[in-house]
Amino acid sequence: MMSIASGREIGFTSRRTQLRLVSQLRAQGISDETVLTTIAQVPRHRFVEEALQSRAYEDTALPIGRQQTISQPYIVALMTQQLVNGRAHMGKVLEIGTGCGYQTAVLATLFSRVYTIERIGSLLETARQTLQNLGVYNVSYRHADGTKGWPGRAPFDSIIITAAPGTVPRGLLDQLGDGGRLIAPEGDRYNQHLTRVVRQGQRFRREISTPVVFVPMLSGTEE
Ligand code: SAH
Repeated sequence: MMSIASGREIGFTSRRTQLRLVSQLRAQGISDETVLTTIAQVPRHRFVEEALQSRAYEDTALPIGRQQTISQPYIVALMTQQLVNGRAHMGKVLEIGTGCGYQTAVLATLFSRVYTIERIGSLLETARQTLQNLGVYNVSYRHADGTKGWPGRAPFDSIIITAAPGTVPRGLLDQLGDGGRLIAPEGDRYNQHLTRVVRQGQRFRREISTPVVFVPMLSGTEE
């Protein structure tokens, strides 16, 4: 588990707007204190380009280039809460869809190790740089199509997918350890819901919740 080095000064205004965001998330029903504390610690403005930094603590998705977005804070908080809530041991987590690395930083604060996969090479390199600048070192990076997971590092205590597959690939479920949890937005471009799968032995219990809008999970890689 990491604590984030504050690094470059965060202005008073952004600190205030960051704390306001945390209060908003609480009011919207995010109740896990470890998640709220983490959102209050991770400087989201460091994950977006300068022109967008003043909007970093609005509860909204923002563009990060290559037609991708940094997820809305409420959704990051909700998915993280669904992964960690009520669990004592937070070991290894696999993240598919690194994007700008914001969700990665949140996970790195809560889990002992994060394995993150991104199919677009330039996004992965920028995320790696941002996280290193913040002093986040418990992350392993991989430029690949995450559809197949990371078999060499399985089993995972948790898996989080931050792009929408039609349905979660079976091969990924097999990389969950016993008692492990997977969370993903499932569905097509116009109809997606957060889905949580909990593994008990060879049984996989599915729970479907909030409607969401994520970019689609694509196959193959790009530079
Ligand atoms: N958690 C990220 C979300 C980024 S958007 C953030 O907050 O910044 C989703 C990301 O998933 C995009 O960067 C996209 O390139 C990536 N992605 C889509 N399909 C993928 C796949 N098969 N394997 C790995 N990454 C994928």
